[in-house]
Amino acid sequence: MSVDNFDQLGGASSTAVLRRKNRESLINLIGQRGVLTRARLAEETGLTSAAISRITREMLEAGLLIESPSDEPPGRVGRRETHLSINPTGAFVLAVSLTANRRSVTLANALGDIVETIDCDDLDPSSASEFLEKLAERAKALIYDANFNRSRLLGVGVAAAISSGADRAGRADLLTSNPLGWRDVPVSAILKEALQLPVRVEPRAAAILRAELKPRAEPGDIYLVNVALGIGVSAYLDGRFIASGAPGFGSLSHFRIPDEKRPCQCGRRGCLEVTASGRAILEMLGKPNLPLAQQAASLNEAVLAADTKEPTAVNAFREAGRRLAVGIDAVIALFNPKTVILGGEVGRQPEYCAGLIEGLETAGRSNAKAMIERSTIKSADAAISVALQEFVFTGELNVKKLKAA
Ligand SMILES: [Zn+2]
Repeated sequence: MSVDNFDQLGGASSTAVLRRKNRESLINLIGQRGVLTRARLAEETGLTSAAISRITREMLEAGLLIESPSDEPPGRVGRRETHLSINPTGAFVLAVSLTANRRSVTLANALGDIVETIDCDDLDPSSASEFLEKLAERAKALIYDANFNRSRLLGVGVAAAISSGADRAGRADLLTSNPLGWRDVPVSAILKEALQLPVRVEPRAAAILRAELKPRAEPGDIYLVNVALGIGVSAYLDGRFIASGAPGFGSLSHFRIPDEKRPCQCGRRGCLEVTASGRAILEMLGKPNLPLAQQAASLNEAVLAADTKEPTAVNAFREAGRRLAVGIDAVIALFNPKTVILGGEVGRQPEYCAGLIEGLETAGRSNAKAMIERSTIKSADAAISVALQEFVFTGELNVKKLKAA
């Protein structure tokens, strides 16, 4: 935080803000590196050793950090340094995946390791509130049955197929999802009420990007496109994490390909949402306008067919990828990202990715291959990242609750 901000916030509150910020950078650094000594922490964060001692003491008391003897030789003062690492059982989160092809509840520990997963794919999503209440019942059963310290359960992260233009990133109080057939559903409020835990809902593209960012020490600028039945985007630009729907960040899904005539739900024609998405692939494979309940299963079949090199499926995935290239070419021109990540069951399919690279190379982007990465992270793991980032690796961490646990 700059000195200016410090002054603007004024007095005691700015100290509290600064403390939370320091706590956040410290716990994230330990989370990223695995183990660190206090001396390394001071070196890398630039914080004083007094500040490091205070924060690590607090975290050790809360049980979120553990200390182990280091094998390094004693320093000048003769005191052997100890290693600090995240205590796997120091905190737990629930992660909910809410997408057309994957609906589940997962209990994970502070390292993101899965303790238990309950499948909810068999629950009918056509009534959103009924579906969410049943999902919450299963989550409660999971919490009750699993062997862990329940008072260390800090919150619920949700990765959802949120339709762009309708998402309220950051608030996510009302969720609209075309793939699920939901309109203005108060997902967060329903789950919070049923589970008596804080809830954070994020679009799947943003959730996947969180998971992708975690292990990268110096990520550079990243633009992520999640391609499933629809298309969602998120970005990490100049050190700032951006989900679609954030102010000043438009959605690539309604970028229009000239000469394409397919009508989009936004009222225009030829948007990537209807020309380069999983829905477009289904249409190319002769399955347009399937009932909502059948779309995800048909898309899964199409992905499998492309994986096994079935020629019509391969062509459809390649063609959709080439269409996406028109939009990605514009993204590169506008944002100049170091990396473009493709996620989602369609985005990570190799033929789709090959189509995108081919389209970009045809457009004169000779470095396309080096720039494009495929993300293998799935919605359930992305939801774990959302929950950990929001409730564990944060300055707002509920230290009081952990100390009492
Ligand atoms: Zn559109």
